[in-house]
Amino acid sequence: MERLLNRHWHHISIEQLANLVETDLQKGLSNIEVTRRQGLFGPNVVSAQKKMGPIKRFILQFHQPLVYVLLAAGFVTFFLKEWIDAVVILAVVVINAIIGFIQESKAEKAIESLREMVTTEATVFRAGKKTRIPSREIVPGDLVLLQSGDKVPADMRLSQVRELKIDESALTGESVSVQKEDDLFTPETILADRKNMAYNGTLVTYGQGQGIVVAIGDKTETGRISRLISEAVDLATPLTKKITKFSHVLLYVILALAFLTFAVGVFRGESAIEMFMASVALAVGAIPEGLPAAVTIMLAIGVRRMANRKAIIRKLPAVETLGSTTVICSDKTGTLTQNQMTVQHLFCDGQVFDVSGIGYQPEGEITKDDQPIRVDENDVLQDCLTAGLLCNESEISQNDGRWEIQGDPTEGALVVSAIKSGLNKDEIESTLPTCDIIPFESQRQYMATLHHNQDSGERVVYVKGAVEKLLSMCDSMMMDGNESELDSELIINKTNEFASRGMRVLALAKRFHPEDHNHFHKNELDGGLCFLGLQAMIDPPRPEVESAIQACKSAGIRVKMITGDHVLTASAIAKQLGLSATHGYDSETIPTVTGAELIQYSDEELVELAQKAVVFARVAPEQKLKLVEALQAKNHVVAMTGDGVNDAPALKQADIGIAMGITGTEVSKEAGDMLLTDDNFATIESAVEEGRGVFDNLTKFIAWTLPTNMGEGLVILAAIIAGITLPILPVQILWINITTALLLGLMLAFEPNEQGIMTRPPRESNSPILTRNLIARILLVSFLMLCGALGLFLWNRSVGVGLEEARTIAVSVFVFVELAYLFNCRSLTIPTLKMNFFSNKLAIVGSIAMFIVQLFYIYSPWMNHIFHSAPIRLGAWIQILVVSIVAFWIVILFEFLENRQITKEDLD
Ligand code: ATP
Repeated sequence: MERLLNRHWHHISIEQLANLVETDLQKGLSNIEVTRRQGLFGPNVVSAQKKMGPIKRFILQFHQPLVYVLLAAGFVTFFLKEWIDAVVILAVVVINAIIGFIQESKAEKAIESLREMVTTEATVFRAGKKTRIPSREIVPGDLVLLQSGDKVPADMRLSQVRELKIDESALTGESVSVQKEDDLFTPETILADRKNMAYNGTLVTYGQGQGIVVAIGDKTETGRISRLISEAVDLATPLTKKITKFSHVLLYVILALAFLTFAVGVFRGESAIEMFMASVALAVGAIPEGLPAAVTIMLAIGVRRMANRKAIIRKLPAVETLGSTTVICSDKTGTLTQNQMTVQHLFCDGQVFDVSGIGYQPEGEITKDDQPIRVDENDVLQDCLTAGLLCNESEISQNDGRWEIQGDPTEGALVVSAIKSGLNKDEIESTLPTCDIIPFESQRQYMATLHHNQDSGERVVYVKGAVEKLLSMCDSMMMDGNESELDSELIINKTNEFASRGMRVLALAKRFHPEDHNHFHKNELDGGLCFLGLQAMIDPPRPEVESAIQACKSAGIRVKMITGDHVLTASAIAKQLGLSATHGYDSETIPTVTGAELIQYSDEELVELAQKAVVFARVAPEQKLKLVEALQAKNHVVAMTGDGVNDAPALKQADIGIAMGITGTEVSKEAGDMLLTDDNFATIESAVEEGRGVFDNLTKFIAWTLPTNMGEGLVILAAIIAGITLPILPVQILWINITTALLLGLMLAFEPNEQGIMTRPPRESNSPILTRNLIARILLVSFLMLCGALGLFLWNRSVGVGLEEARTIAVSVFVFVELAYLFNCRSLTIPTLKMNFFSNKLAIVGSIAMFIVQLFYIYSPWMNHIFHSAPIRLGAWIQILVVSIVAFWIVILFEFLENRQITKEDLD
């Protein structure tokens, strides 16, 4: 087989190719052969190419302004022969880089492993059976079926095409989809023109096709040109970018200030060395350099939490955006409902029949007025059920005693109703084998199959689909056993009757195929059908969705249903779920709009309508894009679900495109920012909650960390202005910043979501993180730190305490005020005293760890030597404790006043 690689596949006939790769064109490979080839060729995966090696990524850790400042300080200190300080500063730089590198790699890995959870699937023919398998299991020679929405799983030579169009932009850069053919091409044909080939990683945008795999994994064109299959994980989000910019601006201000300090000090006659140290201390203390990295880590932790709740984030900014979502536009089938269809009623031959039984278990019967009906007594009924059985691509089977379907649940329900009526599936399928299919597509709204009757020789076409669509294609209907004039009104009335009870209604029709070949002429039918009947099926709402919608209501999020289904079915389900309440309407009012109506509105009218309507029914996928834009025109942050190939533009346009992990096409999964592994609406609500939680925790971290930087900066500035010895040295500042960030600050990322998180309105997406109150709080705590550290330093010096001990006290003030303040920051909305102290155990563990390492800092001679610290006496401990406790209580008082002011503003 290896010798076959790198052939001009586009130049070889299909039969020749099938011989070469030893594949049966009808049945595909046998299972034994597949296993053999898997052993021979390995999995079908393109080896990921990292954009950057670990060494380069490590070196990049040094490419930060703070590091430059530190390195400069380190070298100058070295020349000043302050050996230990120089080594400490350089060690901090290296340790900082190692921590940054590890954290960044972890964040990337976390996101990458989520990507791996999303397996791409493909449909293959093996041992005569059509099966869906993970793409990585494909082997050369496999017979693969392609249909719109699929990602081509390997390089293949196309053996059959039906209006197959493939977007090859990932490979060729050409954005227009290529129409495929199954002709032969000359050997010199360039890749972009080899229309009988489909290449790994490209996307099927229309039609269907079948092909033989000629190359897998790294041997495919995508693998060979080393295109980055694993796009580098982008850890930047709008928030991290804002913060990076903010810290850069701050950096320049602080550097200028530091330079000024140095110049003024030297001018005043202070020692240049002292002044240099003071400037370095100022810069190191005041620049919040750890902030962007901490934000990334917290976002990554949020991503993991969401994954645990079945929402996979594919693009990191979505974590932030989720928290400010104001509208969720959801599909109905499968997302709001269970997608577990059961046919309950049939309307055919002018009569209504009932079907008993529930689920996919083919046990039940057809009755009329409670009397069992034998299907062979009524030809039209039999034809209607046969149409449902044959115009169908699903299978039902029993697994561990449970009946399951493979394929579309709507179709599965039709198979079950046919079997319940007593029809024999195998017998019918062998008498009327399928010769050709026009598969169901949302925008087409019907599916058709062509069958060749082995007994009569006739060719018959069965069609099923949305009622309105089929009526437009029917000329007649079966009534009282005869073909009669089409009575659309009767059919529509019956449809409305079923649909208004929340049922999905499918129409079935047939016609004889006039031509004597076994193919549909083109990919569309032009009409001439005879209406056979309706099958109405229930699809109950998912039980957990109602409370998720309630939660959205309290959270100020509107939920809209955008569905391809009938308007009455959609509004009945919307009513059951209480969707209207999220818009402030009463439960009986369900403003609806249909796709046909949408076409008639101008863009301005659409903007108004999009805000008001709750249900959008019979909407074509293309119209979803317009709806997203209309909602965004009113500054809504829109989350939109989608599963089909044509949903991709809407998913991209939405602020958060949500793809379906189970039923979604590969194309929609590529377009989405987030993926639901269970297709469930309730998962979106959980993800919004987590998004809000992540943002809360980020804000808490910022509120916690900035006062330290400000406090340190202020202490140094005050000392310089007052012309006193520095109360804290650069290495000591580094000690405070690094240990507290790791042992205290990061613990805020593990803060559980606050109780009232889903009862507040969405955060405005462009609102600043630092609100007025938060700035006031940061200033207050910075001031407390300044007073505490500088005050105790001066007081202790004045009573004769040694310089090193006084400095140790100042450093400890920072550490313990930060420790106490951590507990003030565990919530910015719930007062500290009302918080459950034990709900974030890591905060407690971190605090204990911080206490222990600070003991080392104070009492270990080794640490004393490195950091110029010194043991302190019990009296000093009491002072530090008092300052920390006072600071803690002042913040509590601040919270109290803040709450009063907020309540007063609310009342006003
Ligand atoms: P949603 O957008 O909420 O998932 P949906 O699944 O009902 O809604 P579509 O899949 O676009 O939307 O289906 C639209 C209509 O097409 C359905 O109401 C039904 O009448 C018809 N239909 C659905 N599935 C099939 C199918 N497999 N074959 C034929 N017709 C179908």
